[in-house]
Amino acid sequence: MTKIGVLALQGAVREHIYHIEEAGAAGKIIKWPHELDRVAGLIIPGGESTTIGKLMVEYGFIDAIRDFHAKGRPIYGTCAGMILLAKRITEGDQPLLSLMDIEARRNAFGRQRESFEADLDIKGIGAFKAVFIRAPWIESISDGVDVMAEFDNIKVMARQGSLLVSAFHPELTGDLRVHKYFIEMVREV
Ligand code: GLN
Repeated sequence: MTKIGVLALQGAVREHIYHIEEAGAAGKIIKWPHELDRVAGLIIPGGESTTIGKLMVEYGFIDAIRDFHAKGRPIYGTCAGMILLAKRITEGDQPLLSLMDIEARRNAFGRQRESFEADLDIKGIGAFKAVFIRAPWIESISDGVDVMAEFDNIKVMARQGSLLVSAFHPELTGDLRVHKYFIEMVREV
């Protein structure tokens, strides 16, 4: 069975494991870099990107996840996970994996829209009710990055080869289709 890891340093881990398993794959909690050898794909969850980034440095995950990516294994980052996968962020200095050719803006929607739901039309998936929580957005992308969803003309989901990111949290809805899409990416490798 396809095994998908969820990075468990901080954040919404259990919800992703539940969605992976409901979507027909096996979920594995990843606490140590060597555990990455046992999974074919990885999800980096939402949480606080500064905290997750610091812990990644401390536990040796920065190089381990870059290696994982270099081997062609798919990675999906939700919310804070998207920030960590971005090449750059618009403000501040914090540890990043810097793997995907996007620039992310943290807490981009501001106070009025700290958390909200929005109806998206996701490429290859269709209509999707998305939950945003202190979400970042994708400020800019480079060639080779495919925008998969926009909200009010703002880019909120994208893919570049084996990398997938969303500013929202599909693990907090009952809808399994984004996880199914990612599992397919992993199976296609
Ligand atoms: N605001 C958080 C950050 O900047 C992300 C929020 C989330 O992952 N739900 O890291």
